[in-house]
Amino acid sequence: MSFIISERLVNMINKKVESIVAKALEGQILNKEEIAFLFEVDHESEDSLHIQAASRELSAKTSNNLAEIHCHVGINLGPCAHNCKWCSFAAVNKVFPKAASLSTEEVIEKCLKFEAEGVNAIYLVTTGMYSIKRLIQTVKEVRSHLKPDTVLIANADDFNVEEARQLKEAGLNGAYHAIRFREGIESSIPVEKRLATIQAIHQTGLVLGTCVEPIGPEHSTEELVNATVTAREVGAVFSGLMKRIAIPNTEIGNRGMVEEKRLSHLLAVIRLSTQHEMIGMCWHEPSIAGPMAGANLMWAETGSSPRDTHHDCEHTRGKSVAEIRKMYEDAGWKVLEGASRIWNSSKA
Ligand code: SF4
Repeated sequence: MSFIISERLVNMINKKVESIVAKALEGQILNKEEIAFLFEVDHESEDSLHIQAASRELSAKTSNNLAEIHCHVGINLGPCAHNCKWCSFAAVNKVFPKAASLSTEEVIEKCLKFEAEGVNAIYLVTTGMYSIKRLIQTVKEVRSHLKPDTVLIANADDFNVEEARQLKEAGLNGAYHAIRFREGIESSIPVEKRLATIQAIHQTGLVLGTCVEPIGPEHSTEELVNATVTAREVGAVFSGLMKRIAIPNTEIGNRGMVEEKRLSHLLAVIRLSTQHEMIGMCWHEPSIAGPMAGANLMWAETGSSPRDTHHDCEHTRGKSVAEIRKMYEDAGWKVLEGASRIWNSSKA
């Protein structure tokens, strides 16, 4: 008898998963309860495979099966007083005791190398201690060496409207910015400050990219749902996820990392919970599991990285453009040639 009841229950769950997935594929926006239900599906079940297949199908449809390779150029390192506890630059983690920075010439050289390799967008990535004034200057210098249609993005400290305006004038196209998990609790940056920067991005005509990050094994369904909804509603051109990389011997590093098989499920739920107009779904750090589940945006990396304890991630965790291209091809994606459609999608 108990077997019959549990079999019925399984059938009911399947039907509910099917109906929520069908709703998402039709282009209807899922509510928080539906998103929570999908997040709670066992990531090793057939239901999860159904969710992941639907995500892959939806991503292929919304992006015309075109994946993008962007790149991260980490400019500086050293102790950062903002103390986001998951980050290798957080002063409390004591990984990088001394500040250091690439020269402008080195930054330009790295950007030109990526441009020649055919990346669809270049990100200048700085710690919270790299001043926006200096970033404006760096953007100006880099932009003057790039092709006019090369997409140039910043991933930097918070900034105000005037600074956003100057970044745009210097030649920046957009900025990556996110409300991270437990912002203001496990970082010292208030959520309001992150939102004010996002507002400044929109006000000055810069384009915004964001995602659900940095995901760790302890994050609850409620936290995942809230982050997914925030990412879809802040007016960004892409969402997706970033896995938290454990920095050894740190408070948060000791909590471990999410397994890729669970991450694939989470990515798929984020894709299905996000409006179809958002044609980019990111997956960081790169692996084939992401594109298999519907991710079409991954980053090649060089220089400093908040997920690394080496000063140049190109020699450690970072993946090359060729490696990412191969991952996409193995997962059945075509790689876009030319300037990012994702970052340009706000003009569509
Ligand atoms: S994530 Fe950025 S702001 Fe936070 S500690 Fe790291 S470098 Fe500083």
